[in-house]
Amino acid sequence: MSTIIYPSPIFGPIHSRRLGISLGINLLPADGKVCSFDCIYCECGFNEDHRPKQTMPTRHDVAEKLQLTLQRMKSEGQLPDVLTFAGNGEPTCHPHFPEIIDDTIRLRNAYCPDAKVCVLSNSTQIHRQSVHDALMKVDDNILKLDTVDSAYIHRVDRPAGNYDVNQIIERMKAFNGHVIIQTMFMRGDCNGESVDNTAEEYVVPWLEAVKTIAPQQVMVYTIDRETPAHGLLKATHEQLDAIRDRVVAVGIPCSASY
Ligand code: SF4
Repeated sequence: MSTIIYPSPIFGPIHSRRLGISLGINLLPADGKVCSFDCIYCECGFNEDHRPKQTMPTRHDVAEKLQLTLQRMKSEGQLPDVLTFAGNGEPTCHPHFPEIIDDTIRLRNAYCPDAKVCVLSNSTQIHRQSVHDALMKVDDNILKLDTVDSAYIHRVDRPAGNYDVNQIIERMKAFNGHVIIQTMFMRGDCNGESVDNTAEEYVVPWLEAVKTIAPQQVMVYTIDRETPAHGLLKATHEQLDAIRDRVVAVGIPCSASY
């Protein structure tokens, strides 16, 4: 089983399906995974199989390595389209996430002012005011909402501790449209239970929640790489296209990635 543990704090640049030439910023340790979810489809594998021994990079380390990388990319004539916070887990779990966002915006403005700053987050920390405020400063605040079905979330996303999807939706509304909703659709089974969220019973309430959040955009996608859990299947192009079209029909831009 091939999992991906990214270098830290900087990786890439890589060509992203959704984001273009993306320079990755990984605020998690370089030797394992730290996440408040433990998704059965996570490309980094299950949390318990990748417990890190190293610590998270410091704020200073992130800024220094990012500056060096941007200097090198500029000298090579290939600047990134986007600086993407992603990697081995949940970036907003870093204790200095807000300060690192400030550093990153400063460096972006200095070296590649046309590049976007993008954060891929599982939404579990958006109740913290400092995280909310930091996400308001980035260009693309991409927040995960795989479903509004609590049982499905506990079966598939597997949050640590308390997780109330209705509270998450309320906090998503608080971005006043400065948010992109990202949703994984898939089919198949895991441990004898269905993990298919493409049926009407999932799509209809999810779409209702999306309408109340009123995001600037929605991204629907499906499994792209090998997953730690067995039995998961990609959603079909037709299914993703149909869901995308329903989002667009309510006036919200939506992209589908296969
Ligand atoms: S939220 Fe992202 S990093 Fe965390 S377990 Fe899920 S897919 Fe992996």
